[in-house]
Amino acid sequence: MRYSFRDKIFNLKLKVVPRAIRPFWMIAFFLIGGIFMIEKIEKLKSEIISLIEKASTIKELNDIKVEYMGKKGPITEISAGMRDLSADEKKEVGLVLNDLRVEVNNLLDEKKNKIETELLNEKLKSEKIDISMPGMEIQNGAPSFVEKVVDDAADFFISLGYDVYEGPEIELDKYNFEMLNLPKDHPARDAQDTYYLKDEDLLLRSQTSPVQVRVMLEGKGESPIRMICPGKTYRREDINATHEQEFTQIEGLVIDKNISLSDLKGTFDAFVKHTFGESTEARFRPSYYPFTEPSVEMDMSCIYCDGSGCSMCKPKGWITISGGGMVHPNVLRMCGYDPEKWQGFAFGMAAERIAMLKYNMTDMRSMHENDLRETRNFDRKEVK
Ligand SMILES: [Zn+2]
Repeated sequence: MRYSFRDKIFNLKLKVVPRAIRPFWMIAFFLIGGIFMIEKIEKLKSEIISLIEKASTIKELNDIKVEYMGKKGPITEISAGMRDLSADEKKEVGLVLNDLRVEVNNLLDEKKNKIETELLNEKLKSEKIDISMPGMEIQNGAPSFVEKVVDDAADFFISLGYDVYEGPEIELDKYNFEMLNLPKDHPARDAQDTYYLKDEDLLLRSQTSPVQVRVMLEGKGESPIRMICPGKTYRREDINATHEQEFTQIEGLVIDKNISLSDLKGTFDAFVKHTFGESTEARFRPSYYPFTEPSVEMDMSCIYCDGSGCSMCKPKGWITISGGGMVHPNVLRMCGYDPEKWQGFAFGMAAERIAMLKYNMTDMRSMHENDLRETRNFDRKEVK
């Protein structure tokens, strides 16, 4: 059996204190013993609290718990020593001891949570993914200048009652040349030299006129036609600022009765006024194309000078933007229309040429380079 220090004193004193005064001595001693134990508990408490405060790891906290709260620890020892106290003292000391247990346990839990939270925060910080990083910038494009010109022209001609047709870019020689009065040995084919596929009758169309042929064949010589056929065309060209191997044509065709060159002139005049402004004038000059007779070069007055001449109109005051004329009787005949009853006019222009003039661009190649800076630049001079 283990005896605490106080027990030993108690037993020693009992031996020397006379029997008569033993009860008084015992009461006094118990009082002193109770106070002594409470002081001891308070001292122990501040010792444990100090250790808990200094602890920085979970292991240190566990060690404190084992050392002070364990079976061989001072708290258990004090608890065991309480058996010699009076009921009141037991109650008083018991309360203080219980407070100690509760407070120490709470402090241990608190400190444990604090250390665990710190560890977690450190871990989160080291494994942090910065979701606030900016994403990939999405670059917005804009309609190309060619597209804008084609759309604008389509709107204009639709308002005049025209239909818009499209056709294949790989075309038969027959539709691209022969039925347009350009037989295989015709010298005017040189001006429209294009790319032939394996079969020499198949080629990349050099103009959108084959779409006109297809529509005329569908008309079977009976239906009037009012159409435009915008689309990509191809020619063997030496590439420079104003020539490309690929360009976009806007062609038009009207077949009806009592059609004359003045209808073409009026239509072209309205078109240049719509596209470049009301003050723009139209002018025809005689020309030659195998598929029209008579044929004309179609000019508009220079939009950059007052007609006095500038680098754009070199220095004539007029800019050629289109070619056309009255549909050649041979073409009408080949496409099923009787030239004695039907007449028509046709014209063609390059959308890139219109775009260059309208947006004051100097190099046609930049329109096909997919450079977003070109299309995003809406501050270009827009003549209207
Ligand atoms: Zn000019």
